[in-house]
Amino acid sequence: MHSFFASQMDFIFFFYGLAFILLGAICFSIARILSHAGPWRALGLFGVLHGALEWLDLAALIIGDHPWFAAGRIALMTASFVCLLEFARLQALRIGWRVPGRGVYLLLILGVALAGFFAGSKAAGAAGRYFLGFPGSIAAALVFLQHAKVLSGRVRTAAFIAAAGFALYGVATGLVTPALSYGPAAYLNNDRFAQLTGVPIQLVRGLLACCISFSIWVIWGYRAAADVSSEKFALYLRRQFGWTLAAVAAILVCGWTLTEYLGAVYRANVQAQAQGEIDLLGSRLAAETAMVDGMVKALAGSPSVVKLATGSAPAETEARSVLNLQVDASGARSGYILNPEGGVIAASDGAPPLGARESATPLRDALAGRASFSFDFDPATLETRYLASRPVRDGRRVVAVAVLMKSLEGFERDIQRLDRPYFFVNPDGVVAMTNRPADLRRTLWPISDERRRALEQAFGPLIARPLLKQEVADDSWTSVDGARDYVRRSPTPHGGWSLVILKPTREIFASRLLGIAITLLATLMALIYILGRQRAVRDEVEMDKRLRLQKLADDLGLQAATDPLTGLHNRLHLEQTFAEEMARARRDDTPLSLVVFDIDRFKSVNDVYGHPVGDRALVRIAALTRQFVRSTDFPARWGGEEFLILLPGADSSAAARIAEALRAAIAEAEFDGVGALTCSFGVAQFSEDQSASAFLARADAALYRAKLNGRNRAEMAPAEPGALGAGRSVASGLV
Ligand code: GH3
Ligand code: MG
Ligand code: MG
Repeated sequence: MHSFFASQMDFIFFFYGLAFILLGAICFSIARILSHAGPWRALGLFGVLHGALEWLDLAALIIGDHPWFAAGRIALMTASFVCLLEFARLQALRIGWRVPGRGVYLLLILGVALAGFFAGSKAAGAAGRYFLGFPGSIAAALVFLQHAKVLSGRVRTAAFIAAAGFALYGVATGLVTPALSYGPAAYLNNDRFAQLTGVPIQLVRGLLACCISFSIWVIWGYRAAADVSSEKFALYLRRQFGWTLAAVAAILVCGWTLTEYLGAVYRANVQAQAQGEIDLLGSRLAAETAMVDGMVKALAGSPSVVKLATGSAPAETEARSVLNLQVDASGARSGYILNPEGGVIAASDGAPPLGARESATPLRDALAGRASFSFDFDPATLETRYLASRPVRDGRRVVAVAVLMKSLEGFERDIQRLDRPYFFVNPDGVVAMTNRPADLRRTLWPISDERRRALEQAFGPLIARPLLKQEVADDSWTSVDGARDYVRRSPTPHGGWSLVILKPTREIFASRLLGIAITLLATLMALIYILGRQRAVRDEVEMDKRLRLQKLADDLGLQAATDPLTGLHNRLHLEQTFAEEMARARRDDTPLSLVVFDIDRFKSVNDVYGHPVGDRALVRIAALTRQFVRSTDFPARWGGEEFLILLPGADSSAAARIAEALRAAIAEAEFDGVGALTCSFGVAQFSEDQSASAFLARADAALYRAKLNGRNRAEMAPAEPGALGAGRSVASGLV
């Protein structure tokens, strides 16, 4: 579990950063629509800075870290936590809590700087988390909790989740720090957390960041919906949230799968390469030892050696020449014939004395009747040798031991050319041969102190700092000195010694980075689409709203200007038009006339047939009137059963013709439920210096005369001086 997550740190940093950058973007959007933008800008800045920090951690993982880079990241982390604290401080001020001024940041930052100055950058990092990260997150949690109390429904739940998210984040980021050898970080740290739970703390922080971001997204959606105040938009935002959640989750899962796939392709490649390399080394070593194995067998079976051992003939010269021959042929350094007590009976020319340590294993095995093959490390020369021995038999009795000893110098020289680290280790993992001189006599994996003391007898002082966390059986993806490596171990057939090679695999992150970059791109594209779509829906909703308002205004205007029963202009509207038309007639010197008419004996119609029938008659007369006026005229219901037509551009005779035509049409019409009806008309032409009421009074007087003169007729008001537009009437041709 732990090693699985350890190989996923890059993706964990990526999505952790992504979640916070998303938070930043959401908070800046909230700041845009709120009047009190300050706190949200601070939280947005926290999100962006902290997200960027996680991506820099990712960069450190891929391109490697540097003390200055690490210090810069700690500074960035501190800055991000200051923003978080500032968000909580500003919100607390709005709530009305008593909070310290901004000066407190200087104090806290000073604390972080002092920790860095006296105890190094790791301590500064821990101090930043304790002094700023923890209080900042907890204060933000309290602010959201307070927020939740005054909200209701989904937003309330979202605010609670944000509060819980920040509180847990405070613990995960503010109390759990990289390990230190002193202080609280010695007890509560990233490593301890991973050991206890099997999960890296960064994964927990990343999940909490997601939870915070999405709950604040809900709060933002609520604000945005309130801003637009449209049911359609609110519904869209709710759906959009669900879609975004699903889309981001799907992209992350697919992206992770792709990243894993790319990593696996790279890993398989590395594994195959390592296998090839270690096989090559193994066969090279086997070739070295096989020759010695063959020759020691021949040596042990040589009659002159048997003779020498049994003392049946003075064969020493002969035996030594056989010995020299075998040593030369096998490329061994020296050869020995030992008696069963371990004493040297014969040695090849120039052979160094054989110590008790070197002869112990061959002697023991040979006396037991076994061939023996072993490696031996010489602490004096720091050289590793190969020893092969065979019992020399006389019949069934072991009479001596033939030993060939070969230095592995040649093998070592050959494999020095290998550019990646290799180690030749004894069964306990003690390095006897390597191309990293500093690691000679280092134990590759941890061993007990007791065992180490025993090994130091043979190897001399050991470097007790193990390279790997645990013994590797075959192969393992592990971290070596803090960097990721692939370790491959291949045993030799001799005494449990084995070859180990390391393949530093920084590039694995580079190949996984492609997957991460594609995931980022897909997420960005999805978010751009989702936000663009939201904008379009918002614009649509607002346009819709504007259109509806416009229509409402138009309807209201129409209602204000129209008579509800007949649909003609009403009196109010006509009065306005009256003034305008009089002014125009004066300005353009064009004629303007007025026709007033009233239904004859209408009262009795109502009395006899009822009011609804009377209403229908009014509607019918309005319809007839519309047929007889021009598009430029204004027919209006003046009140009751009295109508009025304003005729711009018509002189009195043109107006009289229209009145007469309308009168005849009404008189001839059949009225539903009434039969015949007639109207009396009065016509007047406007003269220049007349007032509106005087103009109207003249038409009224003409109507009165029409009534007096027997009704169902039109009377013209006497012409007055100052009539406008003489001879320019345009209505004459129309009827
Ligand atoms: P005349 O004008 O010929 O002298 O006689 P008249 O009967 O028409 O007299 P008057 O103008 O006094 O009567 C007006 C009548 O019109 C009174 C009322 O019953 C009727 N009236 C006014 N407004 C309406 C209306 O909106 N609907 C109906 N059905 N009747 C109306
Ligand atoms: Mg009347
Ligand atoms: Mg009347």
